[in-house]
Amino acid sequence: MFSKVLIANRGEIALRVIRACREMGIASVAVHSTADADAMHVRMADESVCIGPPSSAQSYLSVPAIISACEITGAEAIHPGYGFLSENADFVQVVEDHGLTFIGPRAEHIRIMGDKITAKDTMRKLGVPCVPGSDGGVATLDEALKVGDAIGYPVIVKATAGGGGRGMKLARTREELDHAFRGARAEAQAAFGNPEVYIEKYLGTPRHIEVQVFGDGRGNAVHLGERDCSLQRRHQKVFEEAPGPAIDAETRARIGRSCAEAVAAIQYAGAGTIEFLYENGEFYFIEMNTRLQVEHPVTEAIFGVDLVREQIRVAAGMPMHFTQDDLKVQGHAIEVRINAEKLPGFTPCPGTVTTFHAPGGLGVRMDSALYSGYRIPPYYDSLIGKLIVHGFDREEALARLKRALGELIVDGVDTTVPLFHALLEEPDIQRGDYTIHWLEKWLETHMR
Ligand code: ADP
Repeated sequence: MFSKVLIANRGEIALRVIRACREMGIASVAVHSTADADAMHVRMADESVCIGPPSSAQSYLSVPAIISACEITGAEAIHPGYGFLSENADFVQVVEDHGLTFIGPRAEHIRIMGDKITAKDTMRKLGVPCVPGSDGGVATLDEALKVGDAIGYPVIVKATAGGGGRGMKLARTREELDHAFRGARAEAQAAFGNPEVYIEKYLGTPRHIEVQVFGDGRGNAVHLGERDCSLQRRHQKVFEEAPGPAIDAETRARIGRSCAEAVAAIQYAGAGTIEFLYENGEFYFIEMNTRLQVEHPVTEAIFGVDLVREQIRVAAGMPMHFTQDDLKVQGHAIEVRINAEKLPGFTPCPGTVTTFHAPGGLGVRMDSALYSGYRIPPYYDSLIGKLIVHGFDREEALARLKRALGELIVDGVDTTVPLFHALLEEPDIQRGDYTIHWLEKWLETHMR
């Protein structure tokens, strides 16, 4: 096992990893920008190194600075968290070239899944169900029209290098395809430096269902059920739950097995998430994330496992702690993402948190790097905390979420907490009856 791990991240996820390290008897090294000198992850880690100015490009994304911080402190492994360098295959290569261990999958797997056409092709060959669409990239409008005519409209044109909901254009009819095709290519070129696009059937009312997988890198893999992350604003998840209200045990076992077999076949190492759209009882693969997800705690809650501990164990060459038979769903968990944003416009609202009080009690977990007096810097993501509740069943989890939101105090900045109070009053949310479009539609009438 490693004796010292460096966490190449900030905020709540850096704390999450530091906590796992401490429980495992591993020393932790925090890295930080000058803007984060007073941040909680710096205070909580055993050691810290300043790696640059506020701009992420010059600090949290600076590979030389992070490698130097390992060399200075003697850290043997790097946990990337999510975002920043977590899905950067070149970074993994550099880490390994320096004799360090990357806590995550191999560069090769990050590369395959980072290119959506290759990812889809790989998954299809491994027997995972995919959205009908083009075989690979589509280079000309003629080709695009042929695909559209074959699969039927509406279709969606997507960038192979895409991410964060960018480089995607909808064509409702054949006439709209020219515009969508050109638009997606231009946006893909501008955002990712790669204009390549592919075409998929556009699904009208799907849920976003994602399957958590975990592999040991030697051909063994398990699944840890699914999360329903359909409640999204601008393709950003805001509320996630596990198990999915629309998924029964048999469906979970079937799609879970298919995902676990696929990652076992490629000898995948560590945590991964296979994302699907789910409509009329069918799953359609859209992408795989080769890292720990923001919403991993809901899975941890219902399976009683520590996914970060497991990532560290596997990276150190140890076997997985559990087999598929050990993994049984217990109860229901919900996570809400609390952002420092002003409603109704969701405008980022950095500033000083005058009072912070975290909720507690049975089945409540608050993952946050806030403290009273903390100054939220304006340079980074507006996520300031995740509130996760676990209950005997969904009804209990909802009641617990309401109770815990009532206990939470974040004074001094605006937050998205009022959004969750309002959502919990909605019958559709209480019933678990929503698709990926539900929240956008609700916001149009309730938050203008
Ligand atoms: P990104 O990597 O940019 O997040 P994804 O492929 O994961 O892109 O898609 C993001 C979101 O776009 C999905 O959660 C869904 O809301 C929508 N989307 C993507 N593909 C389709 C499709 N074929 N039909 C309908 N909606 C889609």
